[in-house]
Amino acid sequence: MIPVTGYSGRKVAVLGLGRSGLATAAALVAGGAEPLLWDDSPEAREKAEAAGFACVDLTRQSALEGVAALITSPGIPHLYPKPNKVIARAMELGIPVDNDIGLFFRSFGSRDWDDFETPPKVICVTGSNGKSTTTALIHHILQVAGRPTQMAGNIGKGVLSIDPPQDGEVVVLELSSYQTELARALTPDVAVFTNLSPDHLDRHDGMGGYFAAKRRLFVEGGPDRAVIGVDELEGRFMAGQLSMAPEDDRVIRISSGQKLEGFGWSVFARKGFLAEWRRGKQMASIDLRAVAGLPGAHNHQNACAAYAAGRAVGIAPKMIEGAFHSFAGLPHRSQLVGERNGVKFVNDSKATNVDSAAKALQAFQNIRWIVGGMGKEGGLTGLEPHLGSVRKAYLIGHSARDFAVQIGDLPQEICETMERAVARAAAEAEPGDVVLLAPAAASFDQYANFEKRGEDFVARVKALL
Ligand code: ADP
Repeated sequence: MIPVTGYSGRKVAVLGLGRSGLATAAALVAGGAEPLLWDDSPEAREKAEAAGFACVDLTRQSALEGVAALITSPGIPHLYPKPNKVIARAMELGIPVDNDIGLFFRSFGSRDWDDFETPPKVICVTGSNGKSTTTALIHHILQVAGRPTQMAGNIGKGVLSIDPPQDGEVVVLELSSYQTELARALTPDVAVFTNLSPDHLDRHDGMGGYFAAKRRLFVEGGPDRAVIGVDELEGRFMAGQLSMAPEDDRVIRISSGQKLEGFGWSVFARKGFLAEWRRGKQMASIDLRAVAGLPGAHNHQNACAAYAAGRAVGIAPKMIEGAFHSFAGLPHRSQLVGERNGVKFVNDSKATNVDSAAKALQAFQNIRWIVGGMGKEGGLTGLEPHLGSVRKAYLIGHSARDFAVQIGDLPQEICETMERAVARAAAEAEPGDVVLLAPAAASFDQYANFEKRGEDFVARVKALL
């Protein structure tokens, strides 16, 4: 745990008692503060009380009197579409509103570091897609390189739950736009921006607000090195804003598809090869086609981002290449579950929307596509250009019939359940085919969450193999 500094003997309100809220409360206590906890959900309060914390109704008019700060969870709106009542009240009273990320950056450095040879560093990853994959891959590269490392944030555990860092440690944090928008301190050593596409627009009042929230990671604390995906306008804009000139190597530009040779430092993937260029010279090249854990152009973008972050903390290209090969991938994201008679089974249950399903469909050929669930607005609209590699669709869930109409002439079969879809796809698959779960829909019509859906797919495939 990282004890929170700066609030000793003071009251700090904690709103939202999920994983990060409870970790925050414990870290506040460890730092000598008195946390006042609240969550609108009685179950969440019960859990907190079972963990030994007292809850105080923060929605009461006078509840925030004498409170030094209000710490909130990422799921609770603080600005748009409209702030939560408790947060609105704190703002009226001029009480600083912060989150666990802000507390982390204020509390991370400690006197113990005086004896360290190499001060610990923090790498933060943000972006619309590929955050978790990139974060896990950076963490894996650091492990393979023998560097002490921990991973937290939106992945695994809350940031304040990590152990105090060791000499030379590198902490890798995945941060969402909700987190970067609110944190009152944001001082990573290396900051990574994978890409940008519209998401969470209601919480940020549109694309401008969404980009501004992510951009704070790069402009508030001024990282030593910024790794920036320049395949969208916003990334190109930010890379330019952070560089003195094209040859400035404070920014490492990354791309999946573009050749980036004229910059101070760049890493790009083209036709399956990753290339690193520095000051007009090629420094390294890696054949990504042979890397089983990172299939597809979208994962090549993640590989470029993780490679650049690894290089930014001094890891050698050969070491990173080795780590790519031993990266197993994250569950539910292009996860290779197994192979039988030349047929591969891939779980991309995290592809809950059209955008991420499109990436999955582009990553493979001869696809037997398991698709469906609780369709989002527009259904499969936008996927039409990516159906060329699909041999047949096996439709499941609530939206199966609507999706069937949308995909029109494509060979298809309504299967309703995962069990039937896996059985039918496996029975019809020929050597060279890929049975791919990429639902392009939410899971809650049939499952508690996308993880449970993916686990069901994996279990049925394992039973077959
Ligand atoms: P995040 O943490 O940002 O949600 P993940 O690594 O969990 O990202 O991947 C989520 C989904 O997005 C996966 O299903 C995958 O198919 C897709 N995806 C992964 N990386 C990228 C990328 N670089 N660009 C676009 N889509 C991606």
